[in-house]
Amino acid sequence: MTSVRAGRRRVDWGALADAARAALGRAYAPYSKFRVGAALLGDSGTVHVGFNVENVSYGLSMCAERTAVYAALIAGERKFRALAIATDSPNPISPCGACRQVLAEFCSDLPVLLVPLRGRPRRYTLKALFPAAFFDFPGAPRRTRR
Ligand SMILES: [Zn+2]
Repeated sequence: MTSVRAGRRRVDWGALADAARAALGRAYAPYSKFRVGAALLGDSGTVHVGFNVENVSYGLSMCAERTAVYAALIAGERKFRALAIATDSPNPISPCGACRQVLAEFCSDLPVLLVPLRGRPRRYTLKALFPAAFFDFPGAPRRTRR
């Protein structure tokens, strides 16, 4: 896998995909059996990982992408350079709408790599996946970096 620039610094997409795959291995998905891992590269260079966490009360389940974002926020990271999402699927699977909205809160032009079980990963930008995110409303605080 190649490295590409995200902003001014290179992203090691191979390492980020590997981190997402490793996170997938720790997913808690006893109901759907559909495991997802996410690896979010922060501006600091730290990789924050997440995986899906299901619950018998299905509505309480949480996606891998959002657990990665929340782990990063807990660690004090607020700006991100890249995201890799690994799944058990033979095809690349893109993030759900809720995760796209949460990711857009912090970086609407985030490069996103979708890593299938086998086969070729596909890369998008969050802006391409989510072109009309909800950002502004009357009285909303001014956004400084998206
Ligand atoms: Zn999601």
